[in-house]
Parts: sequence; C-alpha cells; structure tokens
Amino acid sequence: MNLIPRYNIKENYNHHPHVVILGAGASLAAFPDGDKNGRKLPLMNDIVRTISLNEELNALGITAEIIDFETTFDDLNTKYQGNAHFEKIKSKIYQYFRELEIPDKLTLYDKLILSLRENDLIATFNWDPLLCQAFQRNRHIKRLPKIAFLHGNVFVGMCNEHKSTGFINCTCSKCENKFEKVDLLYPVTNKNYTQNEFIKGEWELLQTNLEVAYLITIFGYSAPKTDIAARELMFNVWKKNKTRDLGEIEIIDIAQKSSIQANWAVFFIREHYWITSSFEQSYLSLYPRRSCEAFASSSLYNDPWGDIESFVGNSLSEYHKWINRIIQSEELHDIDNANPLSRW
Ligand SMILES: [Zn+2]
Repeated sequence: MNLIPRYNIKENYNHHPHVVILGAGASLAAFPDGDKNGRKLPLMNDIVRTISLNEELNALGITAEIIDFETTFDDLNTKYQGNAHFEKIKSKIYQYFRELEIPDKLTLYDKLILSLRENDLIATFNWDPLLCQAFQRNRHIKRLPKIAFLHGNVFVGMCNEHKSTGFINCTCSKCENKFEKVDLLYPVTNKNYTQNEFIKGEWELLQTNLEVAYLITIFGYSAPKTDIAARELMFNVWKKNKTRDLGEIEIIDIAQKSSIQANWAVFFIREHYWITSSFEQSYLSLYPRRSCEAFASSSLYNDPWGDIESFVGNSLSEYHKWINRIIQSEELHDIDNANPLSRW
C-alpha cells in the first residue's frame, strides 16, 4: 500500500483532489442577504414560512406549526403520493429555488469555485442554482472544478435519450434539444441514492473522488442523522482512501465545536482535522488553488507557506485580476511541467 501522496515537490503539484462538500449552511453563509432580489435562502426549519406552504399543508389537514419539516414531508410522502396538494408543495419548492439569482457583485461562491482547480470536486446537497450560476460566470477564467449534485438541483438538466447532463439553460451536445429538469431528492428519511439515474451518477462521482482525496472540506453540512444513507456512502469510500492517514478534513461550520467533533468523529484520523466558523479561515481561502500543495508542503516537508495577501473588495472583475496572477503559473505548468506551480 502506497501511503505517500502524489505530491511532486519539483513541480510543486499535488495530484490528489480537494473535495468540498456543501450543505445548506454554505449557501446561507454565501448569501446572508438573500439572492440578487433579496429572496431568502430557505433552511429546512423555515421552509414552510419562506415559501408559503401553509395553504397546501392545511388542505392536507396539517394546521399546527411545523417544527421538523423533514419528518412532516416524509409522512406526507408516505400518505399522499400523487395528491394534487402534495404535488403543489413540491412544485412550489422547485419554483422558489429555480427563481433565485446570483447577485452581480463578487460572492463567496465565486471565490469558492475559483479557489479550486479542475482536478478538484465540489459535491453539493443544495437545490439552489447559485453555485451553478457562479460556475457559469467564471468558466472563462480557467477550467473549473467538477460539481456533483447529491440531491438534484434546479439548475441542472438531463437529455434522457443521450444520458448527457448540463445546466438547464444549455442544450444536449448530441441532439441540441434543451435539457429536461432532473428530480430533486426531497427530504424523506429513507433516501434511495441509487434509484434515480441522475443522482446515482452524481454519488459515483463523489465516491470516486473521496477515495483519492487529500483534503476534504465540509462546509455547512451537518450530515443529519436522518440521512444515514449519505453518511454511509461517504464513509465507505473514505475508509478505503490510502492517503487519508496523511490528509486532512476541515469543517466550516458555525455550530459548537464539541458537537461538530462528536458528529464527525468517525471520519477523523487522530488529530487530522481543523474546524473553523468562517470560509476566510479555511484552506480554500488561505491557499487558493494550492490547498493540497500547501498542506503537503507543511505536513510532509515541514515547510509551511506564508499567507497570501487577501483580496479586499466586492468587484468580480477585480477578483478575476487578482486570481489570474495565481493562474498564470498554472498555464506555464500546463505547457511544460518543468515549470513549478508558484506559491503565490
Ligand atoms: Zn440529446
């Protein structure tokens, strides 16, 4: 078993991916004031109020205030499959998320996407379109990381004939037909991650990458106990990762440190984890596009990097200029890998 990560010190290049897992807390942290039009990002515990689902719930005989939407939804799903009011609840949820729009100014999701390279992966549990919209407006800068949509997404579609997937406002490259929307995986307790063809493929993408990941960032995702299947799918491949003894898990979450530790303890190897409450203190932000290199240099060669001078402001075009200084050395490395990646 080869435990040495594929970090080439001459090239200053780590061939293992950085995998970032996003939950609802990440979209909330990225858009604290809501979307471009001030529409709020709903969390499961305030979704009934934010999306105004009371009328449909009343029609289904639910009049008391809902404290745990996931359990309520699960009950409704068992009793009311195909019922018009229940279908309306699902379509209102879909439509609300579909209409969210990314603000024009620089957002945390722009920074997140540009802090990773094409070999990396962002796996998101979120239905909202904001990460996809950030992807679309940054894709001309450099090839971006892959994205896996673990619960489906309102901005992603599929050509059922050619099995190709893409953003909903794009067309299939084979038949040029518009993509059909993919189903969201609604909050039922016993989620089946293999029944739906699209979602099955997304999980395979996450698993393939988790098995060889060097750094994992879990951002605003609590791995709820009700989603045992998701935890198992992730843990089963993480256990097989041959470099996990040298890698690191970082968690960005505003919850209490002790509860985060308890929640993720089974995933941690000894002290190889780091918990922070802000994106700005994460490897992604402190070592943009070089997280796995910086971590390998520090942990394997006792050569910690200096911090990058952080970007100030909220102009997307200024941010592009700032990140392009780092990307330039990647372009030289692409041409000839005798050119090492720059530290900054
Ligand atoms: Zn097609």
